[in-house]
Amino acid sequence: MEPQALIFDIKRDCSEDGPGIRSTVFFKGCPLSCTWCQNPEGNKKRPELSFKAEACNPAVCDFACISQCEIGCLSFANQLQVDFDHCTGCGCCFDVCPTGALAPSGYYISLSELLYRIEIDAPFYQSSGGGVTLSGGEVTSQMPFANIFLKALKELEIHTAIETCGFFNYHHFQDLILPYLDLIYFDLKLINEQESIHFTGRSNQLIFENFTRLVKEAAVPVVPRIPLIPGITDTKANLSGISKFLKSLSVSDATLLPYNPLWHDKLKCLNLPERYTRKTVMTQEEKSTSFDRFSGTE
Ligand code: SF4
Ligand code: SF4
Ligand code: SF4
Repeated sequence: MEPQALIFDIKRDCSEDGPGIRSTVFFKGCPLSCTWCQNPEGNKKRPELSFKAEACNPAVCDFACISQCEIGCLSFANQLQVDFDHCTGCGCCFDVCPTGALAPSGYYISLSELLYRIEIDAPFYQSSGGGVTLSGGEVTSQMPFANIFLKALKELEIHTAIETCGFFNYHHFQDLILPYLDLIYFDLKLINEQESIHFTGRSNQLIFENFTRLVKEAAVPVVPRIPLIPGITDTKANLSGISKFLKSLSVSDATLLPYNPLWHDKLKCLNLPERYTRKTVMTQEEKSTSFDRFSGTE
């Protein structure tokens, strides 16, 4: 059987995930569970159902979806009810929904189909110095597929980048991923181990060890990125601590990523709890303060 990946999106014409014009592939499955996860649909390593209640209009379909679910996850009581606890994400109900209220959040795609969709934009990658970025979720949760996908991209002479949370087995990464990369974006979130456990569900030890090894051993650029989450990662202690850590490795460049609250809308569709409540973008003052904290001028 042809290798398959579990992904939740392919974004074309991206300009933020690396140099030039790029396509970004979002892999499903992540070992972390960040309180503020901006891609909650990428967290679980299985297909899921997304239900947008405001788009549901039974008048146009006469509840066509209910009879499609053999295990009885769909019912009606004032409005369509979805039993997310028992839904397998099988997808049988998606096709009959005329309004798009029911939609897949994650699907399997074969290597050849993925390459076909990527190669469509090859002229744009070439003319702009762009390429393909593997993101997520966490792409290293599907290392064997990432390996063959990256190899194929290199055979096509396409520039490759990944965005990683850094929580991976280094030896597997070194063998399967690293030889086929041109650029690594590496997230560093919390310097304090207890805070890392509390806010991401994982110790930061492996992440900082992997970053250190990559900076010393990788032949390609390793760019640290720090997501600014107000009240969690943007504190003086955290930003100055990460800054000191980077200086100890003689890493001078890092990217601070200002908080973006757009992910909140996705939670309801996936029936996920809200664990971080801020719904506004960062003010200019908050961003400036973060930069000052990181650079040591505050
Ligand atoms: S590492 Fe990224 S994808 Fe994974 S839980 Fe954290 S924010 Fe979400
Ligand atoms: S995705 Fe499958 S299990 Fe879930 S509600 Fe639809 S038909 Fe039922
Ligand atoms: S979810 Fe779609 S198919 Fe089901 S009742 Fe609503 S509009 Fe109809």
